[in-house]
Amino acid sequence: MFDILNKDLYRKKIDLRSDTVTLPTDEMREAMRNAEVGDDVYQEDPTVIRLERLAAEKMGKEAALFVPSGTMGNLLAVLAHCQRGEEIILGAESHINYYEVGGISAVAGVIPNAIPGDSKKALTSQTIEKALREENIHYPETTLICLENTHNRAGGTICSPQVTKEIYQLAHRRNIHVHLDGARIFDAAVALNLESAMLTKDVDSVMFCLSKGLSAPVGSILAGSKRFIKKARKQRKMLGGGMRQAGILAAAGIIALEKMVERLEEDHKNARILGEGLADIGEIEVDLDTVQTNMVYFDLQKLSMNTYQFLPKLAEHNILGSPRPPTQVRLVTHYGISKEDVYDTIKAIKNIVKNL
Ligand SMILES: *Cc1c(COP(=O)(O)O)cnc(C)c1O
Repeated sequence: MFDILNKDLYRKKIDLRSDTVTLPTDEMREAMRNAEVGDDVYQEDPTVIRLERLAAEKMGKEAALFVPSGTMGNLLAVLAHCQRGEEIILGAESHINYYEVGGISAVAGVIPNAIPGDSKKALTSQTIEKALREENIHYPETTLICLENTHNRAGGTICSPQVTKEIYQLAHRRNIHVHLDGARIFDAAVALNLESAMLTKDVDSVMFCLSKGLSAPVGSILAGSKRFIKKARKQRKMLGGGMRQAGILAAAGIIALEKMVERLEEDHKNARILGEGLADIGEIEVDLDTVQTNMVYFDLQKLSMNTYQFLPKLAEHNILGSPRPPTQVRLVTHYGISKEDVYDTIKAIKNIVKNL
């Protein structure tokens, strides 16, 4: 993967690897410069406090905590909800299970009961009910279910409020908490034209990222009850995530929440154009049903080509994508990608296919 990051190619131009590559806006830079700050470990940073209140409100929760990354936010949720040796249920393709370095086991000491299968349909109240075992002296206690919305490895697909609610009701019948990895929850909210709180009312806790499509340089939010956040705040300190004059970063987060949410619609439109343009090529396989937000996954099988043969060719056109080996590529639209970039990308891929 990293050989396509060499300096010449990185000179630019169309970076579709992830929405994490978005740069802070001028307004964010200005807000960062002017941010009123204090020591946040003492809870004396007024800008962090302002961000946390705003974020809690957007999530419809009592309290929120500013954390350095989404990974830390999810890990804190598991630490705060679970004891060591307990079982958590999640999708095998979920970010927590797939991309978070095994932190839930290495640090939180929980055992994942990862539900495999088509990542679009892996987690429903039915599949979870099947995975839940009755009380038995041999089994670990199941204390947490982790959902993901939008679902990254399922193409940025949306988990509906109805499915979330059914899972929540099942969980509560069994005395289990529900945590939502909502790294891109605002993409789901904008795509469904719903308030974000409508997607988080049926979970006990939620993490979302400021640093992805919302374009802030650093940080994520964990939200939940006051009691939960109090615990998570202490555990954030334990993990080394207690930050001092973090208002510099929180200031950008406030702009992200106030100014950068509605424009996500533009990313979704661009992803749609991109998905349809690639599907038109024929030899490129795109499941357009999964193009619901800002991601396009496509498959190279019909070209008899694999991911690592394709990406360098794309990079020759100064276009970067993210590998999903063996034969898939992920492209993500974001604030740094214009409609023209999307048309250029379609043209470049047509060219690659034509010249094979
Ligand atoms: C990016 C992401 C995270 C983790 O966020 P980082 O800030 O990169 O640690 C968690 N979950 C999902 C679904 C993500 O896409």
